Amino acid sequence: MTLEQIRALIRDVPDFPKPGIVFKDITPLVAHPEAFRAAVDHLAERTEPYRPDALLAIESRGFIFGTALAQRLNVEMHLVRKRGKLPRQTVSAEYQLEYGTDHLEVHADSIRAGGRYLIVDDLIATGGTAAATASLVERHDAVVAAYAFLIELKFLDGRKALGDAPVVSLIEY
Ligand code: AMP
Repeated sequence: MTLEQIRALIRDVPDFPKPGIVFKDITPLVAHPEAFRAAVDHLAERTEPYRPDALLAIESRGFIFGTALAQRLNVEMHLVRKRGKLPRQTVSAEYQLEYGTDHLEVHADSIRAGGRYLIVDDLIATGGTAAATASLVERHDAVVAAYAFLIELKFLDGRKALGDAPVVSLIEY
């Protein structure tokens, strides 16, 4: 299954969730077992060299790819969630939305000093969400081994927000 075939299963939905946004809908891809498996295989092949100890998956579509990738890489998976969803003691990072700010949280015991973390989401746009996740890693004296995204919106230049760690993305727009 080629990257072109995977790309053909990502649908553009104009003006969702609001006018002017072209939403990248990954549901046809995850509904196609062969293509979904191939996408995860490509991500695994390209992230394995960075030798992560653990993966941080970002709510909520990051959970879909993060779960499969963590299994494939045989590493721990930890959840990065919106505020108020995780039941135990958390640490939180603020990030910028188009209007205002929001918070991402991780359980305080998810990140160990010195650990190498792979940060995973379905898509990078401005990079704010992934950068906030990286700040949680760095605050615990841990290391961002790499970032992995299925989709990168190149024209938004989100990599600029991410510092020095390698960025893997499969499909670019
Ligand atoms: P950002 O913080 O700007 O990099 O935005 C990334 C987050 O927003 C990811 O969790 C994406 O799932 C979501 N997102 C942003 N833009 C889009 C888009 N055009 N289509 C689908 N999801 C998007």
